[in-house]
Amino acid sequence: MIGLMDCNNFFVSCERLFRPDLRKRPVAVLSSNDGCVVARSQEVKDLGISMGAPHFQIQDLCEKHKIILFSSNLTLYRDISRRVMSALKEEFGEIEEYSIDEAFFKVPESFTGEDIHMARRNIVIKTGIPVSFGIAPTKTMAKIANGIAKKGDGVSVFLNGATAGVYNTMTCGMVWGIGAKTSKRLSELGVSTIHDFLEKGLPFARQEFGVVGERLFLELTGVSTESRTDSSLKQVSIMSTRSFKTPITDKSTLMSALGYHITEVAEKLRKQEVKAKELRIICAPSRFGAYVLRTSSGSQTFEVPTNSTVTLLKSAERLLETLFEKGVPYKKAGVVVSGLIPESSVPISLFEDGATEKSDTKLDVVIDSLNERFGKGSVRSGIVNHVSKWAPKAHFRSPCYTTKWQDIMQVKAI
Ligand SMILES: [Mg+2]
Repeated sequence: MIGLMDCNNFFVSCERLFRPDLRKRPVAVLSSNDGCVVARSQEVKDLGISMGAPHFQIQDLCEKHKIILFSSNLTLYRDISRRVMSALKEEFGEIEEYSIDEAFFKVPESFTGEDIHMARRNIVIKTGIPVSFGIAPTKTMAKIANGIAKKGDGVSVFLNGATAGVYNTMTCGMVWGIGAKTSKRLSELGVSTIHDFLEKGLPFARQEFGVVGERLFLELTGVSTESRTDSSLKQVSIMSTRSFKTPITDKSTLMSALGYHITEVAEKLRKQEVKAKELRIICAPSRFGAYVLRTSSGSQTFEVPTNSTVTLLKSAERLLETLFEKGVPYKKAGVVVSGLIPESSVPISLFEDGATEKSDTKLDVVIDSLNERFGKGSVRSGIVNHVSKWAPKAHFRSPCYTTKWQDIMQVKAI
């Protein structure tokens, strides 16, 4: 059996972890630049505020119902995610992280229902984060089971024979992997619930939706098709971008923002033990106004794939030289690295200067270990020095309780 762990209202739960006074109160977390709602406590869901609702639209409701708002604090969420994942690993051994708050795991055959409940309780006690378990023969079914678990006691075991009740009422659009387009096509074909879809049979699924339809059909009938998530898990690119709170017109501030994003993606590359073949930088003017047609990105392909911060920074500086235009108000910057290949299978170039790359690698190892020890961003390139000028709006940001010395909670005993 396959299990899916999903943290309940994850970002909100992270905020509440250090603010127990917020436990029963309505809490929502906003996206970058405090744009729209990305996480809601049950109380906020009950008020009818939907996911993605723009901040300005809900301001009245916030005042009326005293909703507590937070800006996204990804540093905190990532660190709590790491703790939850390691607690899950302790219970089940190998896990497959699917997103910041979800992971699949294999349930040992010897496990009883009581064992599964116990494992869930252990994670909740160790981390303070409420999680739900959906257990089923396939990943797609485990995802459905997880939705049921959230409404009940946190664990739902979904067996082949017991699916009828759910499949009769659940619409196809609610199934993991069925997008709006497919959902629309299905309803045109007279298929509304999962039951309807399965009634049509495998040939129908294959004919209408190809391999994807076939896999979905099998997954919903309890036949695991592992490769389904394998392919989606394999990342092809890593991206880091942000909008500025106010437009930026000077090159050095723009480079500072790019430097920040380069540092982010380079660290991720090294963590995943992959190297990138291509770097793309994005410096985009506002989507409105006179500069809308400006070229807003440039890229470089590396002869030897890299994950070195220094190499990527140098490349970004060159790209910015060609892209930057005086007087243009830039609204957003970011970088994308793509063509990812495992470090172990990077070919050795005959013409590259191996010595430089080697010393850069050594530097990266030292920087990574210092940042691991003293907190993210403790050591970084001098280019990243104007952060306050471009950092996005985050009026309601909570402290980095677990990763910054100065943010650690103080307890006074009197
Ligand atoms: Mg979740």
